Amino acid sequence: MGDVIATNQTILVVGGGISGISAAIEAAECGKQVILLEKSPSLGGRVSQLHKYFPKLCFPSCGIEINLRRIKANKNLRVITMAEVAKVTGDAGNYSVEVKIAPRFVNEKCTACGDCSNAVESEFDDEFNYGLKQRKGAYLVSNMAYPQRYVIDPRMIGSEDANKAKDACKVGAIDLQMQEESLTINVGAIIWATGWKPYDAKKIQPYGYDRFANVVTNVEFERMADAFGPTGGKILRPSDGKEAKNIAFIQCAGSRDENHLKHCSRICCMASLKQTTYVSEREGKSTVYYIDIRAIDRIDDFYQKVQADENVSFIKSKVANIIEDKDGNPILKGVDTEGYNRYENQHDLVVLATGMEPSIPADAFPMDIKINEEGFIEADESNGAIFAAGCSSDALDVNRAVQQATGAALRAIQVVNKVAGMEG
Ligand SMILES: Cc1cc2nc3c(=O)[nH]c(=O)nc-3n(C[C@H](O)[C@H](O)[C@H](O)COP(=O)(O)OP(=O)(O)OC[C@H]3O[C@@H](n4cnc5c(N)ncnc54)[C@H](O)[C@@H]3O)c2cc1C
Repeated sequence: MGDVIATNQTILVVGGGISGISAAIEAAECGKQVILLEKSPSLGGRVSQLHKYFPKLCFPSCGIEINLRRIKANKNLRVITMAEVAKVTGDAGNYSVEVKIAPRFVNEKCTACGDCSNAVESEFDDEFNYGLKQRKGAYLVSNMAYPQRYVIDPRMIGSEDANKAKDACKVGAIDLQMQEESLTINVGAIIWATGWKPYDAKKIQPYGYDRFANVVTNVEFERMADAFGPTGGKILRPSDGKEAKNIAFIQCAGSRDENHLKHCSRICCMASLKQTTYVSEREGKSTVYYIDIRAIDRIDDFYQKVQADENVSFIKSKVANIIEDKDGNPILKGVDTEGYNRYENQHDLVVLATGMEPSIPADAFPMDIKINEEGFIEADESNGAIFAAGCSSDALDVNRAVQQATGAALRAIQVVNKVAGMEG
């Protein structure tokens, strides 16, 4: 890592998902110096793991591509991947930030040819596909990865395979001696955009996510529907690889529930409605079990379109529990609250619409920050010039996350402009 030049007129953005990317680009395009830190080896965040976007049902790769072009074209913006903030001290207009950068073991000479990956045998769970498939120990996060640079999994270091990867690289891009680096930077304002993570479905005992192979989560389902995902875009049952044609969606799985997430993530209804379109496209049938459908604004049009699809039915009910028959078919039990009839419905596959929680636990922030009961960052004067963007502040869709990130960029610009004004 070369010298990172930063001053109290620099804006630091932490988290390279759609919110952090948007905030960083907006500030950089206003002429501000910006550093964008991302923990993982690639920018893109969870949006890059989606198959399609609601409400337009376009592919996220399109929006990401446009943003990546803006990043590449802007000299004011510096991206550092595999980087996390260890500590923040100081005040608005003058923060000192300690950053830790994990070793990638691959330097900027990498041409992304893939020879290193072909040379190694070690395989690990593929995080990008939520562990639904394995990836090599020398890997590119995804086709859309930015930077387009391979990574050597640290668990491979010291093995024969690591040497094979190094020997296979014709451009000398693999450096197995790379170490963690630390740096301290001075910045004027910080935009915190560390996003969300899916609620842990294992905690919802009655739905048997950890017992039944054919119970999956909504984020996994996005990968299952994707042509570059673990099943090549076919919706196959994890238990036997048969195509799933009769799929149940359980809404509020662990949300609006005193024992799990108390809040409504707002996204899950729209995400499931969107996912029923993936099923209909493949000539399957969907049943949505719901308490109430929360689709707002123009998104309600999308709900009406899905309601008109004869392959999609709706049952107003909080599913009580799931059992499995001898063929691995999940059977959903509960009471339909419209007719007050008990049901025991068999499906091929169940998708749990799990909610969104902050990616950083309440006690793990490296600075003092005001958070609410759910662990999301609150806008508060005591936060100084640390502004939350996107899902670090609430469960939001992309449209709202980007609007909010743009607002955060404006607040940060105001702070560094003031610093510049004082320094003449
Ligand atoms: C099943 C499902 C489907 C969805 N489908 C849609 C849809 O179709 N349309 C739509 O508009 N919205 C959809 N959403 C919502 C969408 O995913 C979010 O709006 C979006 O991901 C918000 O982006 P973000 O940048 O705020 O957070 P994230 O996408 O979570 O990005 C945060 C980034 O910060 C990084 N990071 C985390 N911690 C650190 C750290 N300590 N240091 C540095 N970096 C860090 C992460 O690696 C990540 O890159 C869906 C959500 C779900 C659950």
